[in-house]
Amino acid sequence: MIEVTLLGTGSPIPDPDRAGPSTLIRAGGQTFLVDCGRGVQLRLAAAGSGANALTALLLTHLHSDHIADLGDLIITRWISTFTPDPAPFQIIGPPGTAEVVDATLAAFGRDIGYRIAHHADITAPPAIEVHEYTEGVVWDADGVRILAAPTDHRPVAPTIGFRVEHDGASVVLAGDTVPCDSLDELASGAGALVHTAIRHDLVDAMPLQRFRDICDYHSSVEQAADTAARAGVGILILTHYVPSPARGQYEDWRALAATVFDRQIELGDDLHRVQVHPGVCSAR
Ligand SMILES: [Zn+2]
Ligand SMILES: [Zn+2]
Repeated sequence: MIEVTLLGTGSPIPDPDRAGPSTLIRAGGQTFLVDCGRGVQLRLAAAGSGANALTALLLTHLHSDHIADLGDLIITRWISTFTPDPAPFQIIGPPGTAEVVDATLAAFGRDIGYRIAHHADITAPPAIEVHEYTEGVVWDADGVRILAAPTDHRPVAPTIGFRVEHDGASVVLAGDTVPCDSLDELASGAGALVHTAIRHDLVDAMPLQRFRDICDYHSSVEQAADTAARAGVGILILTHYVPSPARGQYEDWRALAATVFDRQIELGDDLHRVQVHPGVCSAR
């Protein structure tokens, strides 16, 4: 079984009730954080996890809303790991990730110096290993395999989606993307697809062009559902909502998705949790 927790269902638009984009994946005793948007550590704590409990951080792309709390995550993991000589923090993302991590460490350089000066048992800066991929197997350890494939979020590039596989169960994390062949292939027959969803019908009616621009490179609810249908996934999990659904509006979103996808559809508040069991997919 793979457990999916929507830690942050928000977007770049500040929302008092939604953290920025981030999803927690638990599989086979391993814990993966996918993206680290605004407020991610508050939700990690609420989900019973923490920066020091993560097996690896996976980044779909380097848009600010998906990496907003990277610095907080790196520093908190560093100062809350008490084992001597801790293993490096594994960060997996598209090309450009190492540059962002290096710049983040530089931004926190003074803090890192203060803490090394203050604590006798902290003698080195945060140990981090960055792995950059656009496709292929990015993780294969202790029964969990993770694959990456390109998505289409242009002009943001490169961007990647992930497929997590464990003991016959599988979950695909699309991130921000318009429909594309490589995502269809990555998601083919998966137990669940976690996908960003934008209400094009509502956003297109906004009076600000900069707001309407959002539709250029994000799937609508119907497009995300169509990707799920084409790929034959068992469960569609929508997240990263624009605009943020008010209470009681989830059924409108679900109804839009259900026009093209006739299986299980999940959406909800931050910390919404979905269990994905082996065999939850169509026979393809
Ligand atoms: Zn994005
Ligand atoms: Zn985004």
